[in-house]
Amino acid sequence: MTPSEQSAAYFKKFEEKYNVNHCTGDFTPTLCELFGVPKPDVCGGTAIAEVVDQANHLFGGDGKCERALIFCPDAVGQVQYERHPEILTRVEKIAGFKVPSVTMMPSVTPVCFGTIFSGASPDVHGIQEYAKPVLAIETLFDVFAKAEKRVAILAINKCSIDTIFRMRNVDYFSFRSDQLVEDWTVRLMELDEYDFIVSYMTMYDHVSHKKGPWSPEATAELELSATRFERYCALADKLWADKNRVVTFIPDHGNHQVDADTGAHGKDIPDDMLVNHFYRLRGK
Ligand SMILES: [Zn+2]
Repeated sequence: MTPSEQSAAYFKKFEEKYNVNHCTGDFTPTLCELFGVPKPDVCGGTAIAEVVDQANHLFGGDGKCERALIFCPDAVGQVQYERHPEILTRVEKIAGFKVPSVTMMPSVTPVCFGTIFSGASPDVHGIQEYAKPVLAIETLFDVFAKAEKRVAILAINKCSIDTIFRMRNVDYFSFRSDQLVEDWTVRLMELDEYDFIVSYMTMYDHVSHKKGPWSPEATAELELSATRFERYCALADKLWADKNRVVTFIPDHGNHQVDADTGAHGKDIPDDMLVNHFYRLRGK
């Protein structure tokens, strides 16, 4: 079996187990398709047909995507959508596409984002526990750099996304807080020096661990994730009006309540494994 076939077999196993048509490994082939970039050689995911079809329609003929803002709120799963529809249908309403997907095991951040940005399963990309080595396989960031796309990653200092995709031809922006990540995401969108911007948000996950996923403090962060997505969509429409563009809401996993005051994730259970990936496409 090739690494790509090995990834595909892993994905199929979890999609069948959770009765969904997609997994988080479908993000990379979808974005590669939208930008006309060859997918990483280890990718076993499948481009999401409904998203690609709408892109072909909106971007016209050989038209390709020219700008992407990839918002990654940590730990916002399907269970959050069920418990707080008043918050997450705000995302659904402006996105257009909601893609129910299963994530990877163990359902912890570096394992899951390793798959999201490579299309490789954990047994292929190599991170199979909570560890943050620099990935050695070909990722989305390698193939985009090779295709001369200008890529920026904005994240919290030393978090998984800030760490495991280093050593690429990418500009890394590393901050002390989500607020700084948001402020600089807006600045980079205004500057318009990048084709593909990844913007991470940590605090819903962080507060869920410390206070429980349904605490008022966590719910306030969940609400902030929807507000940030709305802001990035509005900015993309304003600043990138003359570009074919996509804004996405791409969480890594969900989470579950442990006791009155704490939450966790990492298990092979629906609350941790099921997420929704949202895509919003607009033509120039
Ligand atoms: Zn996470």
